[in-house]
Amino acid sequence: MQVLDKTVSQLTIPTPFAVGDTHIYVIKGDTLTLVDAGVKTKEAWEALQFQLKEIGYHPNDIEQIILTHHHPDHIGLIEQFPRVQELIGHKHVDVWLKRDEMFFQHYKEFYKAYFISCGVPETFYPLLEQLPKLLHFAGEGALTQTIDEGDLLPGHPDWQVIETKGHAQTHLSFYRQHDHIFIGGDHLLHHISPNPIIEPPYEEEMERARPLLQYRRNLTKCLALGIQTVLPGHGIIFSDVEDVIMKRFQKQEARAEKVLQILRGNELTPFQVCQQLFPRKYEKQLDLTLSETIGQLDYLESEGAIQKNVKNGIDFYAQT
Ligand SMILES: [Zn+2]
Repeated sequence: MQVLDKTVSQLTIPTPFAVGDTHIYVIKGDTLTLVDAGVKTKEAWEALQFQLKEIGYHPNDIEQIILTHHHPDHIGLIEQFPRVQELIGHKHVDVWLKRDEMFFQHYKEFYKAYFISCGVPETFYPLLEQLPKLLHFAGEGALTQTIDEGDLLPGHPDWQVIETKGHAQTHLSFYRQHDHIFIGGDHLLHHISPNPIIEPPYEEEMERARPLLQYRRNLTKCLALGIQTVLPGHGIIFSDVEDVIMKRFQKQEARAEKVLQILRGNELTPFQVCQQLFPRKYEKQLDLTLSETIGQLDYLESEGAIQKNVKNGIDFYAQT
């Protein structure tokens, strides 16, 4: 637990995931708000109650919860606060909180088609059944209000909402202009780049988003904000924001260069590129390594360096 100033405190909550601890922020204003809600485990709930008590609060005191994105390690404990009136986030968080059957069906079908088009061998298809297991760690509920780019946080008009899609299609960050503090969820982390996770199109959208391109755009947007302190969802609080952002660009572009080398003189499926890019990791972490690969392919395609040819329903990439 860290008291950061008169209105903001950070609670640090364990998760059973490789990412490690996740941070929740308590904001005091016209209402008492939690930004994010950890993961749904007994250990997380105990840690949250204990740290709330350290700053003089009880779960009954929390009046609203605002979510940075829909991932289980950020929405787990939303059901635990009896006096919460408002549950707030990006509009597309709702299908996840509501366990919308139609959306999950659509999600599964999308992922199956995505695996096929990426040339993923059938031995990996059981991975498609893993989504329900992860939801076990996520809270259930329904948004009472939605927010998006340009809005002010309900009850905290000194905080403005910055859309930061990329890691998730629901990702929002919150910026307090007068002291340049940025609650960044998983968009800006000091030690790692967030994975550009592939998601199916939502509602009115015709095709999937290109998350790595969104992430790059939103890094540029954040560079222009003049952020001085990042309160992240994981890892240390930091102020070398420009350095971190420049490092993210450099690392990503270096990896794209590697993909370009892999494609030199070859025409390969995303799965084949993924195997060469992550030879030791792809089998155990196909979902994350494949979304990273697709991100780089989207980027190189947008730069005009490679092109896609579809043969029998499978995507092949080659240099232009
Ligand atoms: Zn996340």
